Amino acid sequence: MTAPDITFEEISALARQFVEREIRPLERDVDLNRDIDLRVYKEQLRKSRSVGLYAHAIPAEHGGGGFNAVQQVAVALEAGRASMGLAQILLGPPAFILNAGPEQWDWFTQPCIDGEQIVAIALTEASGGSDLSALRTMAKRDGDQFAITGEKAFTSHAEVADYIVVLAVTDPDAPSAGRFTAFIVPGDAPGLSIQVMPKMGWHGGSICQVSLDRVTVDEQHVLGEVNKGWQALFGSWINAGRLGVAAICTGSTGYALELALEYSRERVTFGQRLADHQVIQFWLADMQIAFDSALAVVMRAADMLDGVSDGRCDEKTVRNLVAGAKVFTSETLGRSVDHLLQIHGGAGVLTGTPVERLYRDCRIFRIGEGSSEMLRQQIARSIVGRAPAG
Ligand SMILES: Cc1cc2nc3c(=O)[nH]c(=O)nc-3n(C[C@H](O)[C@H](O)[C@H](O)COP(=O)(O)OP(=O)(O)OC[C@H]3O[C@@H](n4cnc5c(N)ncnc54)[C@H](O)[C@@H]3O)c2cc1C
Repeated sequence: MTAPDITFEEISALARQFVEREIRPLERDVDLNRDIDLRVYKEQLRKSRSVGLYAHAIPAEHGGGGFNAVQQVAVALEAGRASMGLAQILLGPPAFILNAGPEQWDWFTQPCIDGEQIVAIALTEASGGSDLSALRTMAKRDGDQFAITGEKAFTSHAEVADYIVVLAVTDPDAPSAGRFTAFIVPGDAPGLSIQVMPKMGWHGGSICQVSLDRVTVDEQHVLGEVNKGWQALFGSWINAGRLGVAAICTGSTGYALELALEYSRERVTFGQRLADHQVIQFWLADMQIAFDSALAVVMRAADMLDGVSDGRCDEKTVRNLVAGAKVFTSETLGRSVDHLLQIHGGAGVLTGTPVERLYRDCRIFRIGEGSSEMLRQQIARSIVGRAPAG
């Protein structure tokens, strides 16, 4: 794949302008109301698509922007300056939609790429979030029909989704790689019921409980192959998704630093600007160090992810680099936003301010797309090796 001829700086400028013009004016109301009007959301998706942002990561031959990993980071860094419930407007649909077959393209994949349809992904259940091998939702086959029964939890955007991709067990005796099938379930399928799970942040984007009571779909709704749901969902998704989160966290860290500098230059205590008190200066310096190092970690991981296709990096190395970038940047962001709030004192806890919103939004990043613990475990296992036999 050849990256389009647009510089990192040009992409950053485009994405920043979009955030300031199209998202910033919505943020406060959306955060206070905990929701966004679906028509407004879809209108913003279309605008983002029309300027080349939404679907920027989809290959050009499928009508997307064809951005490589480094170029995708340029967008995600700016998305990190927006409120998290709305950041998806810049980021586009998940890459797994490209695993649909040609006969599914017109009704499923293309409208998702065009921002006309919203797709949700339902993996997590009460029985298993980190441990997906413990999933219990079952799909029973009857001829060319499958009846899906189970309970999914934490499914982002499910209540407004046109399709929910559900991972269900189809071969209970097989290991994970052959046990699951991914089904493209219409959001209005009979037997489907959806309930929003109220949460602390990312307002504008919901998470939902999704109950499936013998929801019936045919073979046309299998994403990829039967019993190969793991491959249909994870092959194309994991590294790009995690790197995107790492870049968003880095962008948020930079935004937090800007807000901290702005306030500490204005606010005077004991006859001095906050920015002239040494303790505050040290926090500001720590935030600058956090941003610079997070950016370096993300850029290296992105460059190595691009390097897989031209032989500069192998899959295992990049998997760990991306996982490490996600752990490092999400934890660094948490510390920076804590300083940001402390610098604001009482003003930092007031509802409806960007500081208070960032404080709630940033905490979630250490849980989704691989929690810090699961990613550390992945890296540790790959560097420690197995104990010698005997
Ligand atoms: C805002 C948000 C959006 C989400 N969107 C989606 C979505 O769209 N689709 C979807 O399918 N899921 C979604 N999720 C779910 C998310 O992927 C899970 O929350 C995550 O995988 C963790 O699973 P869990 O919550 O069941 O925690 P658990 O697996 O119960 O783990 C609880 C805690 O224990 C730690 N832990 C677990 N096992 C170990 C171990 N062996 N060693 C050390 N520590 C361990 C975990 O890291 C975690 O901190 C979302 C979650 C959130 C918060």
